[in-house]
Amino acid sequence: MTKRNAPQGFATRAIHHAYDPQDNEGALTPPLHLTSTFTFETAQAGGEMFAGDRVGHIYSRISNPTCDLLEQRIATLEGAEAGLALASGMGGITATLWTLLSPGDELIVDKTLYGCTFAFMQHGLAKWGVTITHVDMTNIENLRAAVSDKTRVVYFETPANPNMAILDIRAIAETAHQNGALVAVDNTFASPINQKPLELGADLVLHSATKYLGGHSDLTAGALMTFASLAKPVVAWRKNLGQLIAPETAALLSRSLRTLPLRVRQHNENAMAVAQAMEQHPKVTKVHYPGLPSFEGHDLAKQQMTGFGGMLSIEVDGGQQAAEKVADSLKVFLLATSLGGVESLVSQPSATSHHGLSRE
Ligand code: PLP
Repeated sequence: MTKRNAPQGFATRAIHHAYDPQDNEGALTPPLHLTSTFTFETAQAGGEMFAGDRVGHIYSRISNPTCDLLEQRIATLEGAEAGLALASGMGGITATLWTLLSPGDELIVDKTLYGCTFAFMQHGLAKWGVTITHVDMTNIENLRAAVSDKTRVVYFETPANPNMAILDIRAIAETAHQNGALVAVDNTFASPINQKPLELGADLVLHSATKYLGGHSDLTAGALMTFASLAKPVVAWRKNLGQLIAPETAALLSRSLRTLPLRVRQHNENAMAVAQAMEQHPKVTKVHYPGLPSFEGHDLAKQQMTGFGGMLSIEVDGGQQAAEKVADSLKVFLLATSLGGVESLVSQPSATSHHGLSRE
């Protein structure tokens, strides 16, 4: 805890929340607890911890003080009751969906998804007896027609990777909830600074923390923000799946969160400048950026986002070959598949992040 009890804004919480240097010999930066296991005061105390009758750390695949602090900060970023830190974005997605879904359940997902999420659903969850239904949720009527009492979870990204499609979080949440389904949003492309899906009715928010939250292309991590009642079973499964973030990575990610508001503000500004320049370019046929008035999701983005993020995609005349030439010719943008770091990157989704999808 900080010394001051005054209400704290987002940027202040990202720096001070849940940590008092005076509890740690005055260390301004929270310590890194580099230990795989924890000693018990007595054999009886150890038994009580395993039984859940005593609070404390047992083993760093289950919990660790460095990870705990990060998780408290992750929760506060989106005003959630609970925050979880995981080994990767995919670790968060898989642990969450594995926990929530059982054989026979239906998962409704949007038609635009990050490639590995798509692959996990098609080749992992489907094999396990979960029905995966793809719906174009840019039209809410499609979801209304598809959802039923078999639907356990409705899952989507907004903005979606890679075409930046904007989906109406509030309308989707209302439709899903009327049918008793939970709503999970991958908020990676927006960041918690630009969009807070829980405030718009979502039940679970997932992030690839590898991206904006980490922000320096030097770590792999995931985050989940949700209600305490939903977090509890995910925590239990995460232990068995081995998906808790490592303490070293947790310390790095806590460091990164301190500058998240500043970095995302600059991402928003830079991407808007690039999008506007691309829109003027004679050989660019389409620019997908939620901040451009010409983009089809712009009005909705303005309602549910406070900034439009650092990601944009473009279409160029001349197909795949022309696109490759553009990517190879850039001077500052580096060819790599990730986002949200301080470097500017370029990638062709069809050949990289989305190569596992069919041509259609
Ligand atoms: N969700 C989205 C939208 C992504 O773009 C990615 C990765 O690019 C992931 C999830 C997976 O995250 P990670 O690479 O941290 O596992």
